[in-house]
Amino acid sequence: MTHIDVAIAGGGIVGSSTAYYLRKNGFTGSIAIFEQDTTFRHSCSALSWGGIRQQFSTPENIRLSQFGLQLIRNLKQEFGAGADIGFKEQGYLVLATERGVPVLEENRQLQVSMGADTEIYTGDELARRFPWINFEGIAAGSFGPRNEGWFDPYSLMTLVRKAAMARDVKLVPHAVTGVKVNGKVSAVTLANGEECSVGALVNAAGAGAGALAAMAGIDLPVSPAKRYVYVVDCPAAPEEMRKGPLTFDVTGEYFRPEGRNFIWGFTPTEDEEPAVKDWLMDESWFEEKVWPALAARVPVFEAVKMVGNWVGHYDYNWFDHNGIIGRHPQVSNFYFGNGFSGHGIQQGPATGNAIAELIIHGGFRTIDLARMGYERLQRQEPLFEKNIF
Ligand SMILES: Cc1cc2nc3c(=O)[nH]c(=O)nc-3n(C[C@H](O)[C@H](O)[C@H](O)COP(=O)(O)OP(=O)(O)OC[C@H]3O[C@@H](n4cnc5c(N)ncnc54)[C@H](O)[C@@H]3O)c2cc1C
Repeated sequence: MTHIDVAIAGGGIVGSSTAYYLRKNGFTGSIAIFEQDTTFRHSCSALSWGGIRQQFSTPENIRLSQFGLQLIRNLKQEFGAGADIGFKEQGYLVLATERGVPVLEENRQLQVSMGADTEIYTGDELARRFPWINFEGIAAGSFGPRNEGWFDPYSLMTLVRKAAMARDVKLVPHAVTGVKVNGKVSAVTLANGEECSVGALVNAAGAGAGALAAMAGIDLPVSPAKRYVYVVDCPAAPEEMRKGPLTFDVTGEYFRPEGRNFIWGFTPTEDEEPAVKDWLMDESWFEEKVWPALAARVPVFEAVKMVGNWVGHYDYNWFDHNGIIGRHPQVSNFYFGNGFSGHGIQQGPATGNAIAELIIHGGFRTIDLARMGYERLQRQEPLFEKNIF
């Protein structure tokens, strides 16, 4: 039976980053990434919007994203002169009704205390800066003029994975189908029937994380949440709008420029969550909900043509919609980097680094993520993030 010191289930941004930072932090043992589909066609990291922001409500989330930003800033030093993920630093604009303003202000104070540049605009200032938006019913908007925007998520995932593979990390094209636990994880079974003994297992299975944990008899409330993304052409959009931010409306809809087009999305309420976890687009959402809401907020969106769309599955944490990062308190060589619920591409690098630190040093060195561990699930103490989109 083959032995692997660190087995990583899933080769998206979290799995690739874990492997990369294990090597970067000096780990010399054997590392294998087990990936069920090496085209990454359905991986969350490939289907993401690629947004990165400082506008979170917990210090941990801000730090995790700042780590991602640092990596983007140092991309060429890290991965070579040709590395480019098309970072567009156009900011996030988060709108709020009168009721939401105290939360926006509270969040801003935290963000600024941690080095972010978040600004809050109201009234004429909002209208002057974002003249394409109809601010009816909106009391304020918080905007990050620097260090926020979006990038090509597939390129980031690929750069990190290739850099890991160049440092003697093996990519094995098979799903993990079984996990053997004798106090600790002792072995994994692969889809081709092979069994490997392992020193540690990292759950980096994205939307499949709950299913992987269940193979070890562990309950992890992470499973797919279906999200629709629409690409629209809007000929009447003014040039400044194409240089504008990723905007989150109070209704749950959001949009941002994408090349000559715009992409649109929305966060369903829990009652509205699409029940079927397939990859089929339900176009009725576009016609009945998303288009009317966005056209009311941005009048030029009245005249658009849908030129593309895709379905992605969020790696959704149904307990408190936040990442679960750390090791299992009892099965102590089973590590989690799961459940990011819409903010995992920007936090994947930091998560990989954090798991690498746990494996190598037995504790976090760069960011204290104690509150984000599995223990909070056992204690039934949710750690809510107020800015979930
Ligand atoms: C539409 C959409 C928009 C998003 N927008 C943003 C955004 O703007 N900003 C942001 O930060 N985040 C965003 N996200 C979330 C982000 O993309 C994810 O949180 C992140 O990519 C998760 O990375 P991962 O490596 O954990 O999962 P994945 O990228 O899904 O990788 C997990 C891998 O595990 C593999 N796998 C699963 N089960 C097994 C198994 N048993 N054995 C072997 N392999 C297995 C899968 O094939 C997959 O390749 C978005 C997600 C979606 C879907």
